[in-house]
Amino acid sequence: MTARRLAALIGSPVEHSLSPVIHQAGFDAAGVDWGYAAFDVAPGSAAGAIAAMRVLGIAGLSVTMPHKHDVAAAVDRLDPAAVALGSVNTVSWDGDELVGSSTDGAGFVASLADASFDVAGMRVAVIGAGGAARSLIDALGRAGAASIIVVNRTVERAESASRLAAVASAGRVGDIADVDLVVNASSVGMGIDSGAVTDHALPCDPALLNENQVVADLVYHPLETAWLTQAKAVGARTVDGLGMLIHQAALQQLAWLGRLPDVAVMRHAGEGALAQRASSPPRPTGVGR
Ligand code: NAP
Repeated sequence: MTARRLAALIGSPVEHSLSPVIHQAGFDAAGVDWGYAAFDVAPGSAAGAIAAMRVLGIAGLSVTMPHKHDVAAAVDRLDPAAVALGSVNTVSWDGDELVGSSTDGAGFVASLADASFDVAGMRVAVIGAGGAARSLIDALGRAGAASIIVVNRTVERAESASRLAAVASAGRVGDIADVDLVVNASSVGMGIDSGAVTDHALPCDPALLNENQVVADLVYHPLETAWLTQAKAVGARTVDGLGMLIHQAALQQLAWLGRLPDVAVMRHAGEGALAQRASSPPRPTGVGR
């Protein structure tokens, strides 16, 4: 009999993370004897966590804020997306080497495929230029988007993020009206971590959206953001942020186990955890992965 294997999340905070529920559902559905734990690792201690992974033989690691950059410097090798981004969300073993990869952007592209949307040849607008937006820009460029307009409150960050793909450039809010896919990768619209959603702000004026577009929001709490509701009202096809969360986790399990888990089972578990959150008393903190 083989020993039970352990995968883990490092981040801070991790208390409200959906990852343990989602990953455990994937492991259980696959019938593998893997467990998943979340460790709150203090900022600046990522290298220590990677050393612990080596010593303890932890079989796979998910990495969230604030450690994504520090882990990139602490592993033995990086995959191409992690090199481009200088950021890692997944650590896996290749022999006795630790490999850092980034599954966020590819997870987003996979969530579009669930909605039967192929990004190849499409015009895209990404709202936001933070870590999530950067992983999207890199992945959308690799997936063959025809153009990527980056719209951000701080224009310099949009310019910097747009260097991640040859077809990307910084743009203006008005450009959103002319694209096939609009993605909110900013934190606008993110509710507090409870049933009480406090942020009803919209990442752009819904008058810029139309029925020929696919509109995606990376925010997944609430699952249907105010912006997605408005997008539906104009007849656009919508994609919620839980899809990206599930698919980036599924790609992590592919890296650890060599096979994709059942994403429907993982999504069901994620929806259950979000519903439970919505019915629990308000807590005054943000959304964790
Ligand atoms: P981040 O690095 O902190 O970036 C935040 C972005 O939002 C920046 O572009 C920032 O603009 C913009 N922003 C924040 N407040 C704003 C406001 N009031 N008005 C206009 N723009 C504003 O965060 P991140 O890690 O990229 O995450 C962004 C969002 O994606 C979060 O809601 C996060 O929960 C979500 N996310 C979801 C997934 C998923 O799997 N679904 C994965 C990762 C992240 P400036 O540059 O001007 O500050």
